[in-house]
Amino acid sequence: MRAESAFCLPTAERVKLSRCTTYGLGGEAEIYYPDNLCKAKLIFDKLNENGRAFVLGNGSDVLASDGKIKEPIICTKKLRGIVRVAEDKIFCLAGTSVGALLAYCKRRNLGGLEYLVNIPATIGGIAYMNGGAGGKYISDNVLSVKVYNGNIVTLDNKDCNYTYKHSTMRDINAIILSILLKVYPSTRQEIEERLSAYSARRAHLPTGRSCGCVFKNPQGDYAARLIEMAGMKGQSCGGAYVSPVHANFIISDGGSAEDVCKLIELVREAVWRKFGVLLENEVVLLGDFEACKS
Ligand SMILES: Cc1cc2nc3c(=O)[nH]c(=O)nc-3n(C[C@H](O)[C@H](O)[C@H](O)COP(=O)(O)OP(=O)(O)OC[C@H]3O[C@@H](n4cnc5c(N)ncnc54)[C@H](O)[C@@H]3O)c2cc1C
Repeated sequence: MRAESAFCLPTAERVKLSRCTTYGLGGEAEIYYPDNLCKAKLIFDKLNENGRAFVLGNGSDVLASDGKIKEPIICTKKLRGIVRVAEDKIFCLAGTSVGALLAYCKRRNLGGLEYLVNIPATIGGIAYMNGGAGGKYISDNVLSVKVYNGNIVTLDNKDCNYTYKHSTMRDINAIILSILLKVYPSTRQEIEERLSAYSARRAHLPTGRSCGCVFKNPQGDYAARLIEMAGMKGQSCGGAYVSPVHANFIISDGGSAEDVCKLIELVREAVWRKFGVLLENEVVLLGDFEACKS
């Protein structure tokens, strides 16, 4: 038997996306799981010869359609690793989970990322979406992001053009390979206090299968407020419902991805009719949805 070398490309696994997304929804797809940067680049090149590959992190902001997914997928979850490169800088591979990153920082008395606590994501997904909580965003910590788009390119923080839920990486066809983050030496007690405080702020969030907030907040307002005022809080469609706890969460309760998508469109329409505000998706749709065609 041949040992797998850095240059032996993994083959695609046929996996149901319901196993790879926090919604627990989505049909079968061909997914590649590179476990080092060299393989990630080679797979990215190979898949992009015939179109555009989809990069999946932890699937916590992806609604995947029910049928077979045509796009080939590169999942970063095996691209894990963290190295402290200076007193106040850590390098991490894109597929490193937020939980692993925070545990690493806590063990080494490094603070500054506690606001990410309990976000079920990879750091690559967070860097792509400019994720954050409690008024803090990863753009506050990113020093640079290394991407591969056929060439390796290092984007400094300013090149990432971070704004609310947006980054340069969203506008280009590239895979984020790694991120260099600024952290702050702190005492264990300070870190624990901040982790507890940020966790407590999330205690009110709905439970159940979701993608977190479905819509971006429009400028100067909250999507949840508009959805509630439009009478959509608690509304349902098949096995999906707008959370009665937080109206920007749509929970899937054993239905289909199409149910969730239909409900997204119903909510968008209700808010548009009532306020003339067109809510933009925060959630990323993958595959084909009937509800998006009408
Ligand atoms: C219960 C719950 C709570 C949440 N709370 C928050 C919160 O407080 N704050 C917040 O900001 N978000 C929150 N989210 C949403 C989600 O966790 C974030 O958007 C996160 O950034 C997604 O990361 P991921 O690794 O799961 O990416 P995925 O969901 O897998 O992907 C999201 C997007 O990022 C792209 N992407 C992912 N990795 C890469 C990569 N390496 N290279 C290129 N593109 C990539 C994908 O193509 C896709 O377009 C929550 C989600 C859930 C389910």
